[in-house]
Amino acid sequence: MAVAQVNTFDVYKVREDFPILKRTVNGKPLVYFDNAATSQTPKKVINAIVDYYSNYNANIHRGVHTLSQEATDAYEQARFKLQKHFNAAKAHEIIFTSGTTHGINLVANGFAAILKAGDEIIVSALEHHSNIVPWQILCEKTGAILKVIPMNEEGELLMDAYHKLLSNKTKLVFCNHISNALGTINPIEEIITKAHEIGAAVLIDGAQAAPHIQVDVQALDVDFYVVSGHKMCGPTGVGMLYGKESWLHTLPPYQGGGEMIAEVTFEKTTYADLPHKFEAGTPNICGGIAFGYAIDYLHEIGFGNIQQQENELLLYATEQLQKILGLKIYGTSAHKTSVISFNIEGVHPYDIGTIVDKLGVAVRTGHHCAQPIMDFYKIPGTVRASFAFYNTKQEVDVLVDAVKRAKMMLS
Ligand SMILES: *Cc1c(COP(=O)(O)O)cnc(C)c1O
Repeated sequence: MAVAQVNTFDVYKVREDFPILKRTVNGKPLVYFDNAATSQTPKKVINAIVDYYSNYNANIHRGVHTLSQEATDAYEQARFKLQKHFNAAKAHEIIFTSGTTHGINLVANGFAAILKAGDEIIVSALEHHSNIVPWQILCEKTGAILKVIPMNEEGELLMDAYHKLLSNKTKLVFCNHISNALGTINPIEEIITKAHEIGAAVLIDGAQAAPHIQVDVQALDVDFYVVSGHKMCGPTGVGMLYGKESWLHTLPPYQGGGEMIAEVTFEKTTYADLPHKFEAGTPNICGGIAFGYAIDYLHEIGFGNIQQQENELLLYATEQLQKILGLKIYGTSAHKTSVISFNIEGVHPYDIGTIVDKLGVAVRTGHHCAQPIMDFYKIPGTVRASFAFYNTKQEVDVLVDAVKRAKMMLS
């Protein structure tokens, strides 16, 4: 007999998993709407960190003693969890990094050995500074030329213009999956397919996508995909670079040191196999293990539930905020995640952020590490509210009231 599917998602029950959500700020219950900057940490992850330092803290891969073996096993287990979650073909295609920024720099550094003067690389207008600056440094080193996919008023990339930028000079395309400043979901499938048609490699910055949607690197056929643990319920200081095996063999190592070598003499050093070639020195062992537990936790919640809850919050908050006279939302694509960037006419975003903080609401203000987007709209910055699955409509109401109050006081 068919059983009707019951939606077991209860946001108030889920909130119990996050100790920090119980605290107050300036005497008011915390309303945490800065999830695009960093997500909050569930007990499962906090406990994994405590367990590591309480019971099996040791350096990995090099020791024969029991603690070292336990730590090594747990760390490699985390790599398997990431492999399975992102559907990489091989575990050694998963490189632990310190975060998205580190992953991008690792790849950009590697391409310094591959690019020649006059080669072209393509970036999108919607990028975070960490997916712009490493490539500018690469261009300075190699004489390669940086081209930019333009955007429209809605905060969407102009795909016709992208097609025109591609040529046999194009060697690499890099773009975020989801914009941190506007929430736009970019058409990365098309970006990847078109780049591959002319033989260019593609790096996707998945820092904002991985917390919200299940990503399949093989289905995307992407060459490199980078994420940060701290934006997906994990700790800070750990992230992942996925790279296709062939590319990881082609790229030279990023840093030299322990763990990344096969043999060292003063005449010549040979490098270790993947993934160790890119993991010089003692890594963030605890962070890697805890990142694995964060992935487990997200699966317990379920990406279907995550998306449904966040979409509801996005629609509701958009509707309520739009009722405020003089409020303008930046980033109005039909394809977006739970990020709302806005301004109120005649009011500086920083002043709104300060007043709503007095009322317990955490939002981000400023350029969100995406100055080119702010330049496009000719604004200094925005107020950004970004929602996670553990946020509620009731919290949205608090935000809307707080913004109304700020508007009254400031204009
Ligand atoms: C946060 C973010 C980054 C940088 O991530 P770090 O964890 O600071 O290295 C890069 N790109 C996007 C789209 C981001 O949201």
